[in-house]
Amino acid sequence: MILALILLICAFDSVLAQRTYCQLPDPIFNDGVKNSTWGDTDPSDWNYLNSNDWKSKVVTCGASFQSPINIITTAATKESTFPAINYILKSSTKNYFEAQRDYTKELEGEYDFITAYDLSNSQYKYYARQFHIHTPSEHQVDGKNFDLEVHFVHQAVEDGEQSCNDIRNKLTVFGLLFQQSNTASDYEVFKPWFDDTVNRVTSFDMNDFFQKMTDKTYYHYTGSLTTIPCSQTVNWYVFTSPLPISKSQFKQFQDFLDNDDFFPNKANNRPVQNLNGRTLYKGTASFNGVTSLPVIEASWSSIIQMALLLLVQLMITI
Ligand SMILES: [Zn+2]
Repeated sequence: MILALILLICAFDSVLAQRTYCQLPDPIFNDGVKNSTWGDTDPSDWNYLNSNDWKSKVVTCGASFQSPINIITTAATKESTFPAINYILKSSTKNYFEAQRDYTKELEGEYDFITAYDLSNSQYKYYARQFHIHTPSEHQVDGKNFDLEVHFVHQAVEDGEQSCNDIRNKLTVFGLLFQQSNTASDYEVFKPWFDDTVNRVTSFDMNDFFQKMTDKTYYHYTGSLTTIPCSQTVNWYVFTSPLPISKSQFKQFQDFLDNDDFFPNKANNRPVQNLNGRTLYKGTASFNGVTSLPVIEASWSSIIQMALLLLVQLMITI
């Protein structure tokens, strides 16, 4: 009986730990195109050879608020509310796993949240879900590309504190730029991508990159996914002070894109899109390092766990 109750508590706990992520808008496919997947055999397929033609497959890719953009630094308006980057330490029971993507290297996992402001100055909570690589960079800074860009993708959730209906941008993406350096040492977190015997990362802390970034100046605007379906629901923060990457590690990413059918010039970057009147904001993110704050869901499940354990104790006493 007691064992059954303990099992029930554990099951309850795992259900409560599920997050309800805010859904992205459904893509609108053009007439005659029912879907668009990565490839080069079907006319509806997308790849980096036909990136100027994505709008013929998915209507949104031709809309006004697309990404990436060329960031003209002198055109930015200073904003007064800055995001606080402060990832809570990853639980030892959760790992990142390599996602099977043909067009990038990607690690997926459940991590903890950051808070970010949308452009109406409301603050929302977004959970980090995955990060992936583009080379060269997708965003330009004053017309210049960098060697590599990492996208940290965070998704908003529906919970007791915020409603998906109120959140215009369901995603917040941090773009981090990298430039080759003779003195850079390899990043541990990138290594499993190129070692077939390792398919998980257990020791990576999302704060690592931000700890290495001496200048946390960012540019903030509302844009889109840079791959199909180009959903216009992204709160973009592009950090423009590049991090160093070793030449050997950078070459591994380039070799991954060594397929002329999909990656002209060994590249997986979408060309820059027009700003179309959008305001570009500038700021400096605050970084407080790692703390050991409790995860929100865990606190609710803990309360219920404690209540059930009290109930068990009471039954034993009786
Ligand atoms: Zn990306």
